[in-house]
Amino acid sequence: MDHFQIRDGVMHAEDVPLTLIAEAAGTPVYVYSTATIRRHVRVFREALANVESGAEGPWIAYAVKANPNAAVLATLAREGLGADVVSGGELLRAIHAGVDPAKIVFSGVGKTADEMALALRHGIGQFNVESEPEAEMLSDVAVALGTTAPIAFRINPDVDAGTHAKISTGKSENKFGIAYHRASAAYARARALPGLAVRGVAVHIGSQLTNLAPLETAFTKIGGLIETLRAEGHAIATADLGGGLGVPYDPALPLPPSPAAYGEMVARVTAGWNVRLMFEPGRLIVANAGALVSRVIRVKEGAADPFVIVDAAMNDLMRPALYDAWHDIRTIVPRSQRFTANVVGPVCESGDTFAMNRPMDAVEAGDLVGFMTAGAYGATMASTYNSRPLTAEVMVDGNNWAVVRERLPIEALIAADSLPPWLK
Ligand SMILES: *Cc1c(COP(=O)(O)O)cnc(C)c1O
Repeated sequence: MDHFQIRDGVMHAEDVPLTLIAEAAGTPVYVYSTATIRRHVRVFREALANVESGAEGPWIAYAVKANPNAAVLATLAREGLGADVVSGGELLRAIHAGVDPAKIVFSGVGKTADEMALALRHGIGQFNVESEPEAEMLSDVAVALGTTAPIAFRINPDVDAGTHAKISTGKSENKFGIAYHRASAAYARARALPGLAVRGVAVHIGSQLTNLAPLETAFTKIGGLIETLRAEGHAIATADLGGGLGVPYDPALPLPPSPAAYGEMVARVTAGWNVRLMFEPGRLIVANAGALVSRVIRVKEGAADPFVIVDAAMNDLMRPALYDAWHDIRTIVPRSQRFTANVVGPVCESGDTFAMNRPMDAVEAGDLVGFMTAGAYGATMASTYNSRPLTAEVMVDGNNWAVVRERLPIEALIAADSLPPWLK
């Protein structure tokens, strides 16, 4: 459920007409709904109400890469969420937005020594280590700083997540994690390293999962591994089950499993594990809380269907070009007629296509459209390709709204380059 609804003939974000935001902030513009973000946090928490997770309850670390805007992070920090970060940059943004460092977990296969030191100095809660060489480097960095790093190993359970290949992470051929059969050796190695405090296991098999079965298979394997590791003398206190739950993009498709169904499965599979459970939801929290609002530049005749050329492009919302992703395209002020069209951006790539042969509300030049479910992996993936300045972002809360990221002026892009002496 989201808070983008038509009221008096105009789509609103909560109580604010999107026409007003588009006029004031320009287009294209990402618009986020605070109420939707908060609602998703509440729904996810409630879904985990019955899991066994020790005295402290589940540790929910929002996956910052889904949407790292400071206003989003600050909203989530106030809800008490931690953060799952995959770079020193995300770590600093999360802390700057008010996330408690003790609730931060650092994931990723390529953490550098500098990033490790940064995270140790900030006292983050856990490192999810993805290889033995990484464990050795982290131990060295921790020893040099006179501290110990709390770690879990990310296990690659060799499970097919059944999602798009580019967002699958839990197959043995993917770069992520330590192979299940290598886990015992890795934990034994880590125990011998002076800078590490081994405390848990972690798994994350992919994103936009629309079926619970692969998650259940992966979690069951992790349960077995916890028993093995404990029998080998390791104190396993945390189990991080990652993120990945899918969200509805296309209303014509069956709904993905609900958070409640996910929570029920987790409670059943993890019963008796005797750990603190950790979760890293990203998309689930923010996807439906965002829309990319764009203006139709013109409608051009096509071989079959017309081309609707909008002022947003693949550099603003990359998912369709990158993953063949499907976004609902709605008119902000519906005309009550329908047509079939191809919706494209101005970038000079045929891949700059949001939709082909799409039955949709009819539009004319100057109309506003919304690319829905764009709050996750939207603005954060934007680039300045075709020298298009990064899009503005707006946050709505009830009848309040504010620009939470200014549109980058083209002057900033020009000023970022400099000429070598021989061209001056
Ligand atoms: C991307 C990522 C997530 C979040 O995935 P969603 O599908 O957005 O929930 C969680 N954990 C790790 C390690 C990730 O890389």
